[in-house]
Amino acid sequence: MRRFLALIVVAAVLAASADASAQGRPQPRSLDPDAGISVILLGTGIPIPNPRRATACTAVIAGDRVFLVDTGRNCIVPLDQAGIRDLNGIFYTHYHSDHFIGLGEILLNFGVDGVDHSIPVHGPPGAVEVVEGIVATYRLDLEYRIGHHGEKFSEAVMNPEVSEHEPGVVFDEGGLTVTMFPVCHEPIEPAVGYRFEYRDQVVVVSGDTRVCPDYAAGAEGADLLVSEVENAAMFNAAIALSRASGNTRQLEMIEEGMEYHAESLALARMAQEAGVKKLALTHLFPSIPPTDAAEAQFIQGMSDYYDGPIIVGRDGMDVAP
Ligand SMILES: [Zn+2]
Ligand SMILES: [Zn+2]
Repeated sequence: MRRFLALIVVAAVLAASADASAQGRPQPRSLDPDAGISVILLGTGIPIPNPRRATACTAVIAGDRVFLVDTGRNCIVPLDQAGIRDLNGIFYTHYHSDHFIGLGEILLNFGVDGVDHSIPVHGPPGAVEVVEGIVATYRLDLEYRIGHHGEKFSEAVMNPEVSEHEPGVVFDEGGLTVTMFPVCHEPIEPAVGYRFEYRDQVVVVSGDTRVCPDYAAGAEGADLLVSEVENAAMFNAAIALSRASGNTRQLEMIEEGMEYHAESLALARMAQEAGVKKLALTHLFPSIPPTDAAEAQFIQGMSDYYDGPIIVGRDGMDVAP
């Protein structure tokens, strides 16, 4: 009997570890239709590779519906780790590749998981061209999978329904209103942010922008502002290193990059003036390691201008307003 029990225990341990380690995937997230609005910061990085940060990708959860703002590089990994296995829609802010290049992998993995519907995609003009390009790259892969698995692998999931919009209300269903607003990421046009309003709470996701009046207007009164950010002092140190190395092409591109992002102290001032209640930072420039020390240095000085809580984003972090 004792031997029999021991076998059962061993079998149970093996089954549990096979389940947890063979795939490393958490259970699908249970979503509460009565819950309010919240976000998961999925990709907090920038194009410069950082093993701890995917690029631009933020989930906005309204009740039991899940939307993404942007689908950056490697976003599928934190998305899957957050237990999100389907989406109600995707909103694009602009078409720098660090904001869209992860789309194909998200769709492919949903297809493998058995999702069988097209995902609505919204964005400013350019969305059709970008999504068609990604769909085209997966054409052979789709042929192989359908050839192998038949209808079990959905053709629809690899073909999102794309609609292009001008700024204004772009989505209004089931009590969730999403408003697209212009931001300032010149010379990149169009570039927009999104304002999600659900059950009397407002979550704003900035996209890429410097601090400017259009951005401030879009963020006005937000309960939670998820903002891109750059730390000028850290950036200047990177510029000095680049100058010392003599790589002038890289140096000039870094300097140009500084001009169209939201400098941390200017962002803090804007958030205060716009009455933002909580600030969560993503798209961190430079791409610091997710450590307390680096994050404290990153936000140095911001609290001199902004009274509310400041959260330095890490991939997979849940943030509620
Ligand atoms: Zn970007
Ligand atoms: Zn950009």
